[in-house]
Amino acid sequence: MPTYEYRCRHCSHRFELFQSIVEEPVKICPKCETEAVERLMGAGAGLIFKGSGFYITDYKNKKQSSPDKKKPSNQ
Ligand SMILES: [Zn+2]
Repeated sequence: MPTYEYRCRHCSHRFELFQSIVEEPVKICPKCETEAVERLMGAGAGLIFKGSGFYITDYKNKKQSSPDKKKPSNQ
């Protein structure tokens, strides 16, 4: 079961919730009780923040599969 991360646009309160994928997203903020909660896409957001992982993969690929066509900026 995935953990979903929510954030309230009203008070910026962030919280996580264990939910089944079929459950409806939470809308009401538990803190300020305003209906201003948005669900942050867990996996997607994580991916963006872990940009370094991306870089490493990219680097590996580059090393294995030859020339730098794409990035002449290397070095
Ligand atoms: Zn709130």
